[in-house]
Amino acid sequence: MIEKYDLHCHSNASDGDLSPTDLVLRASEQGVTSLALTDHDCTNGLTEAQHTADSVGIKLIPGIELSANWNNKCFHIVGLNINQNSAKLQRGTRDLQSIRIERAKKIALKLEKKKISGAFTAVSEQAGKGMITRTHFAHFLLENNHVSSMQQAFDRYLGKGKPAFVATRWAELDIIINWITEAGGVAVLAHPMRYKLTASWMKRLLTAFSDMGGQGIEVVTGRNNPDEIRRATSYATQFNLHGSKGSDFHSPKNQWVELGRLAELPKNIPPVWGLFG
Ligand code: AMP
Ligand code: MN
Ligand code: MN
Ligand code: MN
Repeated sequence: MIEKYDLHCHSNASDGDLSPTDLVLRASEQGVTSLALTDHDCTNGLTEAQHTADSVGIKLIPGIELSANWNNKCFHIVGLNINQNSAKLQRGTRDLQSIRIERAKKIALKLEKKKISGAFTAVSEQAGKGMITRTHFAHFLLENNHVSSMQQAFDRYLGKGKPAFVATRWAELDIIINWITEAGGVAVLAHPMRYKLTASWMKRLLTAFSDMGGQGIEVVTGRNNPDEIRRATSYATQFNLHGSKGSDFHSPKNQWVELGRLAELPKNIPPVWGLFG
């Protein structure tokens, strides 16, 4: 059997459109053999996903995508092969959930100042029991014709430096990595090219990340090009990191990203799944 890994995606437990069940079914249809569900700051979708994965015979890797601060910037760290019942991780995600609710209220207030009302109620309803993210605000702005695309919602309101941006203190990088490793998982730097770091900042980040116990880096992601894969591969080699691959799939509406539709991981770097016990 040909193994097909996708180690980064979202369900409606955070900002994905599909339920954990529909996500796993779609992954299976796409020929994925090992899928990691990695919702933002929460593990609530994992039990349902595991159930469906068992019934269709694909391997579910329990995962999470945590929001971390380092040098006052925000980075996303994917935790793979975690024990979702780890007390430390559970406590941590509870804290991040309250931070997200408080942030959402502040974003809504900033939108009020721009004469856009009702955002908090709308995003709370949209998110249901799941995590509230900026994606929910972008949907709200789009549905109410304040913007004409998701991208525009970030460019005009939600992105860094825009009127409804709220700088947020998540948890520090070393703390986040500790939650993951104490939960038996592997910490992976998500989508390294998306932070737009200079080469010297990237080196500083990866030195710190590796010193703190980080073990992996996403080398292949949903929309990256061969040059980005080459750069990420060279970082993996330089910092002795294992390579991961994940689509960061959120919704079937995004035709550019599909579960499991990913380039091969370069043969010269060790795959992160070699670390799963
Ligand atoms: P948050 O973690 O609440 O800050 O939300 C971040 C999420 O917003 C990311 O995980 C993406 O899913 C989404 N996002 C960020 N920038 C964009 C963008 N330019 N267009 C569409 N979605 C975006
Ligand atoms: Mn997201
Ligand atoms: Mn991310
Ligand atoms: Mn993601």
